[in-house]
Amino acid sequence: MDSEQLREYGHQMVDFIADYYKNIENYPVLSQVEPGYLRKLLPDAAPNRPESLQNVLDDVQSKILPGVTHWQSPNFYAYYPSNSSVAGFLGEMLSAAINMVGFSWITSPAATELEMIVLDWLGKLLKLPQEFLSPGHGGGVIQGTASEAVLVVLLAARDKTLRRVGKSALGKLVVYGSDQTHSALQKACQIGGVHPENCRLLKTDSSTNYALPPEIVSEAISHDISIGLIPFFLCGTVGTTSSATVDPLYSLGKIAKSNDMWFHVDAAYAGSACICPEYRKYLDGVEEADSFNMNAHKWFLTNFDCSTLWVKDRNALIQSLSTNPEFLKNKASQANLVVDYKDWQIPLGRRFRSLKLWMVLRLYGVENLQHYLRNHIELAKYFEECVGQDSRFEVVAPRLFALVCFRLLPPVGDNEVCRSNKLNQVLLEAVNSTGKLFISHTALSGMYTLRFAVGAPLTERRHIAAAWKVLQDEASTLLGAPLQ
Ligand code: PLP
Repeated sequence: MDSEQLREYGHQMVDFIADYYKNIENYPVLSQVEPGYLRKLLPDAAPNRPESLQNVLDDVQSKILPGVTHWQSPNFYAYYPSNSSVAGFLGEMLSAAINMVGFSWITSPAATELEMIVLDWLGKLLKLPQEFLSPGHGGGVIQGTASEAVLVVLLAARDKTLRRVGKSALGKLVVYGSDQTHSALQKACQIGGVHPENCRLLKTDSSTNYALPPEIVSEAISHDISIGLIPFFLCGTVGTTSSATVDPLYSLGKIAKSNDMWFHVDAAYAGSACICPEYRKYLDGVEEADSFNMNAHKWFLTNFDCSTLWVKDRNALIQSLSTNPEFLKNKASQANLVVDYKDWQIPLGRRFRSLKLWMVLRLYGVENLQHYLRNHIELAKYFEECVGQDSRFEVVAPRLFALVCFRLLPPVGDNEVCRSNKLNQVLLEAVNSTGKLFISHTALSGMYTLRFAVGAPLTERRHIAAAWKVLQDEASTLLGAPLQ
């Protein structure tokens, strides 16, 4: 490592990145390249001799950026956001600079201790119950993604149950969520050895705004018990992926508790908003949960990846995930004086991710973060109003946070679902191929639904107005032209 070269190249790179952000609006937000485009542009093999940074950056500009979908563009409204920020970026830089691998406390005590402190800070901001904080039996840990978070707690819950009922009962274990629960739960079941037929994704509908009705969960559990199965894990969501609905945490938690089940709350997207007192109500009932997850890398200005997970009983995780090979033994770990995060996650190695969350919290402060979240929610309200004022469109699910689910109505007299779905699919493709905005879709009650998720840090009201104009213009073109 040559410090002077780092200084020179680092400045060059920061300039390149700053220019990228300055011009980000000028790129088509959704990459318009065809599959396989890059192989045609790059050599077949790595260079024998070093190349200049300038050459590489020229290639990034001319060959890589056309194949990038610009998640940080103010015109990005697809999926859910994945925020970057100056503070998050600086935290990433520092983490890359220190580049330690903090699997055990001894491998970099500051990394473990800062993670514990920062997760306690964030846990307090979310007003999580005391049991989730590190001074007791629980604590927080940064996972890479919400998918890893649900996997590790599912493994902990599985093993806890198997210790009670016997290892041979694995095939009888049952998991519950809803048809709105993120597919990460299904993947966790696959990895965790849950029988494929024992992952119950209970049906929801518009009568509960796609939230999971507790009665349906109770019925399913009672039925499964009556046929000799063993319910062990229930997942509730605060801010589902399709429509950002909120499951009734308190009732679900009570059901889980009375059946000796683990209750996990996935607030990957909407958890961030709950640092605002007026949105904290959506976490009511979290006191009944065994684990709680929020992605700071979605809507909390912390660059990917940073998924924060809290558990009430850290020993449950450790019992499932710990190993103690000779080559990792050290005094502090052996004396049980420290947290070794390797025992709270799947991989051994781990990055110094708490630095970026710490920098976000310190460089912005809680008030600015709250303002940031509220502003996006206001912008989403504005978009919702625009949709509401155009009788050709309808909002199809209540907006709780910064996601608006909507669709273009078919021409009067045409109620055929297939044609209506096709109409919206064509609209989505037309809008996205302009490169002026990027939205995504989902299905709600079999209806092709457009999703407009406000949450990119650079989005302003003028961007929303421009996006809405594109949607309206494309709709006019479509409704004037017959569908193919
Ligand atoms: N849970 C919810 C509610 C989500 O919306 C998402 C992704 O959008 C996930 C889980 C999965 O997130 P990750 O990519 O962090 O695994």
